[in-house]
Amino acid sequence: MNGTAHAAIGAATGFAVANTLQTTPTTTLILVSLGTISGLVPDLDIDGKLRGRITLSHTVTRTIAQIIGTMMILYSLYEGTLEEKLRGIGIGALMIIISSLIKQKHMLTITGAGVLLGGVSLQEMWMILFGVYIIIASIVSHRSYTHSIIGTAFFAYIALKLEFSLSIDGVFLTCTIAYISHLIADMKILPFNKRGIKLFLPISSKEI
Ligand SMILES: [Zn+2]
Repeated sequence: MNGTAHAAIGAATGFAVANTLQTTPTTTLILVSLGTISGLVPDLDIDGKLRGRITLSHTVTRTIAQIIGTMMILYSLYEGTLEEKLRGIGIGALMIIISSLIKQKHMLTITGAGVLLGGVSLQEMWMILFGVYIIIASIVSHRSYTHSIIGTAFFAYIALKLEFSLSIDGVFLTCTIAYISHLIADMKILPFNKRGIKLFLPISSKEI
């Protein structure tokens, strides 16, 4: 399934959770945004071993890096002391600048390192773990660990930490359900998928 479809299902998930919890318009907007992002997150592995076999457009990874940099800036404005805000904004801006300058394959790995650094700087556990997630996703092969139960559990834990940090109900549910929706949409049981996902890694590498 393509990115647009994954994003749409993720957005719908955020909207459904917001409706169930009867959230304010602002919270609804946040949940829809988080659902959209979470619906796309498993495919952060496109930079992995797929390269070399399929030439992936450089613009895609660059756009991802820039979106993450922008999110980092927005989040920094919202959280922490003035010094932490400035540091977060600096790292986010640096990520945007570096990603537009560098023309190489390891862009997502560098982005992950940037997020990790931002998390350490802001002392945000979810951000540190998300940085680790991006680094791992940028190394493993496409539709492997990020599309498995282990990957889901790791992301759900990040979502839980994010919910605590933002103090917004529904963040954990939205992110986790949107992530799972991506895996279901990628499964071989659906007629339009030629390839499936390795859901039970590392115990079994059978495609489901
Ligand atoms: Zn996928």
